[in-house]
Amino acid sequence: MALAEFNLIKQFFTRPARRESTQLSVGDDCALLAVSEGFELAITVDTMVEGVHFFSDVDPRYLGHKLLAVNLSDLASMGAEPVAVTLALTMPKVDALWLHGFAQGLFALADKYAVDLIGGDTTSGPLTLTIQAMGLVPKGQALRRSVAKVGDFIYVTGRIGDAGLGLKIKQGYTSSNGQQALNQFNMPEPRIAEGLAIRSVANACVDISDGLAADLGHILEKSLVGATLDYQKIPVSDAVVEYVRDTRDWCMPLIAGDDYELCFTVAPENIGKLNIACTCVGVIEQEQGLRLVHEGKVSDFIAGGFEHFS
Ligand code: ADP
Ligand code: MG
Repeated sequence: MALAEFNLIKQFFTRPARRESTQLSVGDDCALLAVSEGFELAITVDTMVEGVHFFSDVDPRYLGHKLLAVNLSDLASMGAEPVAVTLALTMPKVDALWLHGFAQGLFALADKYAVDLIGGDTTSGPLTLTIQAMGLVPKGQALRRSVAKVGDFIYVTGRIGDAGLGLKIKQGYTSSNGQQALNQFNMPEPRIAEGLAIRSVANACVDISDGLAADLGHILEKSLVGATLDYQKIPVSDAVVEYVRDTRDWCMPLIAGDDYELCFTVAPENIGKLNIACTCVGVIEQEQGLRLVHEGKVSDFIAGGFEHFS
C-alpha cells in the first residue's frame, strides 16, 4: 500500500471502535468481529457507480450517507441490528475535499447506529463506492422474503414515492413543495428501529429499493403467493399527489425506487402487536401475481407498470 493511501485511510477512515464486538479494526490484514452465542451474522453489500447510481456533481456528504443507508436498510429488512461495515473505495484521484464530505456523511449516519467501519480497500479507477454491512440477529429470527402467507395484510413504513419525485425534480420537474422529496432521495433513513420492532410480528419483509411493486413482487415470488394493493391506501405526500395530478403519471409511486421504506406482511392475528407507524396497503392472496385497485378498476402489474384490464 502506498504512503498516500495509508495516510488517506488514517486521516479519513480510522476512528475508535464503538462496539465490543469489534475486536480488531482498520490496520491489519483482516478485521476481527466477535459473534455472540445464539446469534447469526446478516451480511449484505451494495455498490454505487458514478453516472449509474449517482450524478457526478452530487454532494459527497449525501453519497456517504446514502451508501451506508442502503446497506443498513437491507439489514433493517431482515430485522438485524447493524454492527460493522467495510468500505471499498475506487477513485480516479485523491480529492481531500471530496473525501472529507463523503466521510462526514458516512460517519454521521454510522454514529447514529453505533456502527463501526472495520476495514476496506482503496484503489484507483472510475469512481465506485461499495459498502459491505454486517448485522446481528438471534438465530432463526431473521425476517425473510419467503414467509408471506395467504390472508396476511401488507404494510409499509413511511411514505411511498417521495424519493421517486426527488429524482424527477433532479431531472427537471418543478414542484412547489419538493424539499421533503429531495431529502428522501438524497438522504434516506434506514428503518432500523422498525425492522427490529417487527421481527417477532411480521411474516415476510423487504426494503423498497426498486419500487413498491417490484420489491413486493420479490416477496410474492419467494412465498409463492399473490397480492392486491389498494392505490388509495398507499401513503403519499402532498407533493406526490400534486405530481400525479399534474402529470397523470399515477404509476410513479409504485414503480419508482430509492424510498428505502420497509414493506412487510402480518398475519391477521398479529396486527394488534404492531407497535410502529405503518400503513396497511393490501392483502396477500392465493392467486399469484400482483394486482392493484385504482379508481374502481383492477390492474395487473406487468413488465414494470400497471395495465388496466377491466
Ligand atoms: P491489504 O493489502 O492487506 O489488503 P490494505 O493495505 O489494502 O490491506 O489496507 C490496510 C488496512 O486499511 C486494512 O486494515 C484495510 O481494511 C484498511 N482499509 C483500506 N482501505 C480502507 C477504506 N477505504 N476504509 C476503511 N479501511 C480501509
Ligand atoms: Mg494484507
